[in-house]
Amino acid sequence: MKLKVDLSELFAAANRMGPPVEDEFVLDVEREPWEDKLVGDGIELEDIGELDAEDGLLSYRGRQVLLYIQDHGSKVQEALLDSESGKRYHVSECRTIHDMRNKGRFERYVVTNDISGEFHITGYDYMSRKPVEGNAALKVCKNCLKYLNYKGYSKPGNYSAFMSFDLDEFFQTYSSFFSHHPRRRMGEKEGYTRDWAEISRSYRQSRNYKCEKCSVSLINRPQLLHVHHVNGVKSDNCLDNLKALCADCHSKEAFHEGMYVSHSDRQAIMRLRQEQHFDEPDNWQQVMELADSGLRGFIEQCRAERLTIPEVGLDITDVNGEVKGMLELAWRKNMVGIAIDEEDRNFAITQGWKIFSVHGAIDKFHQVKEVL
Ligand SMILES: [Zn+2]
Ligand SMILES: [Zn+2]
Ligand SMILES: [Zn+2]
Repeated sequence: MKLKVDLSELFAAANRMGPPVEDEFVLDVEREPWEDKLVGDGIELEDIGELDAEDGLLSYRGRQVLLYIQDHGSKVQEALLDSESGKRYHVSECRTIHDMRNKGRFERYVVTNDISGEFHITGYDYMSRKPVEGNAALKVCKNCLKYLNYKGYSKPGNYSAFMSFDLDEFFQTYSSFFSHHPRRRMGEKEGYTRDWAEISRSYRQSRNYKCEKCSVSLINRPQLLHVHHVNGVKSDNCLDNLKALCADCHSKEAFHEGMYVSHSDRQAIMRLRQEQHFDEPDNWQQVMELADSGLRGFIEQCRAERLTIPEVGLDITDVNGEVKGMLELAWRKNMVGIAIDEEDRNFAITQGWKIFSVHGAIDKFHQVKEVL
């Protein structure tokens, strides 16, 4: 989905702030601020029809959201003491949400894009009937994880996707599906030394503007090349501790859950890898490393079913050879592809491709298998 937004004021504000200290923050400048009301307690939905689904993920006015029940009634104290007993929150168009839509039955859900993991819940004391409220670290709905095959959750015995579920990481995984991202990370520049801008610039130059992981050359798009601190200490600028990484590889590093990379930036990197004649991946691990993180649930399924290895990031052109779209994964021989953007999907279909959306491919996996 593409939204047109007027960013002139934002750029003006960014200009007033002076040049960015670290390139990670450049990315955030392109974003619009989150609607204030959506953070914190969130907005109570009047009707489930207000809630959209974006390829299996929950969306409200173009923003990725989650859904939770604030009113815990007489169970509120129990939930405050033990968050396991609280009501689960939803992050996808899971069976529960699907049933609600179908039956027109709807509990009093609140949408929010606060990804702190703390939820404000209310209710009453079952003896005195006095109101009780507080914050609880509610748990994620397991149907939601299953629906997305998040971190391979569907594999029997895989509890870690649930046990170690982190909202920040979850939202970042699907950052390509939404044009607006949490902005609270912006300005978190603590820890960098004053000369960081210069160090980062000269380090990238010394590496010839190449990603030290996937080797893509970003000499013409230097803002997409970041300098990463290997040990996580941002003031430790000794050479051993620095690594030039493209925005895509960087966001896939551990503990980078707050790093949101736009779909267009990821596609630009994929396109450059193609142009620079990268070898096509020959195993699923490589596909996982190169592809958009939002495809991981599907890639896990493919790996388990030993499907043929696809190309990652294939440009599709019209009759004049002009690039009109990109497939995230493509089986060229079978003319089968997966795309995130609706425009990419629609164009590919006109060119004779059989196209699946990301969640469509997870949901109708047998259909993908049939055509390969
Ligand atoms: Zn759910
Ligand atoms: Zn890279
Ligand atoms: Zn880093």
